[in-house]
Amino acid sequence: MITQNSKSSTSQSMTSNPINKVKQLRYKQIWELQNGEVDKSQFVCQLCCDKEIVVSKAGDKFTAEDCKCRQEKEIKAKKEQEQKKYEQNIKSAEIREEFKAKTFKDFKWLEGKKEAKLAAMDYVENFDFYKERGIGLTFIGKCGRGKTLLSHIIGQEAINKGYTVINTVAKEFYEDIKATYNNPSKNTEDLVSSAKLVDLLIIDNLNAERFGSDEIDKLFIIINHRIENKKPTIINSTGDLDYLNKKLAPDHVSRLIGKNGEPIKVGGIDMRVKQGELITDLRNKNIAKLKRKLSDAK
Ligand SMILES: [Zn+2]
Repeated sequence: MITQNSKSSTSQSMTSNPINKVKQLRYKQIWELQNGEVDKSQFVCQLCCDKEIVVSKAGDKFTAEDCKCRQEKEIKAKKEQEQKKYEQNIKSAEIREEFKAKTFKDFKWLEGKKEAKLAAMDYVENFDFYKERGIGLTFIGKCGRGKTLLSHIIGQEAINKGYTVINTVAKEFYEDIKATYNNPSKNTEDLVSSAKLVDLLIIDNLNAERFGSDEIDKLFIIINHRIENKKPTIINSTGDLDYLNKKLAPDHVSRLIGKNGEPIKVGGIDMRVKQGELITDLRNKNIAKLKRKLSDAK
């Protein structure tokens, strides 16, 4: 124990303590690594050589402070935890197999779709800016034009950037909410608060003809909350602006446009029809091959 009268300086007492001795030795080794000739390109963080602390030397004493990569890792871990929690609370948020790991490369530069792709790429590129202001996107266009794929790519990119994202189909999302009403093991508040809190909420297929007024009300309570709290929402709908104005409350539509700007049209060819044609083509070629094989065998 060091008494008030003890003459030993702090640094002496630090090095005479066996635990501090070990610590100082470890710091010394890290300092030598961080200040040595070693090829730093092998490390993910070249500032700390992946040690998560940066060591400084003053005389023969070494001190360390947390590297910024450690804070980044902690933030990332926290975000991943949040993401998991939101996904647990919103069952319909499960990403469909066909959209997993898609990138902008998978969305071709086709006529009628270019503007939407550019808007999506800009949105990802400047997501920090848009997110801070609660600005989302509204995509409109007929079925099969690529709205769902495009918004899934945006969601995936935002997750890669360390944000939380929930991507859900409006109808299934509403069914989720309804399922919590009479089920004591499911908490409506958990679900709704997750939808309110997530960094980016994507609601696919918001088509009023398939909704009653209660469904629209429930969804817009969440959307309004997000607008008021500057949380961005991406909305996909098969209707155009006139259609939306007719089907949704005008107040809802004007709020959305006020926040997301004019809806962006995803037009051009129907990708599902295109996909179907490719499959038919492939099958016909295989059948022709099989026919040749069978006639050769005769
Ligand atoms: Zn570091």
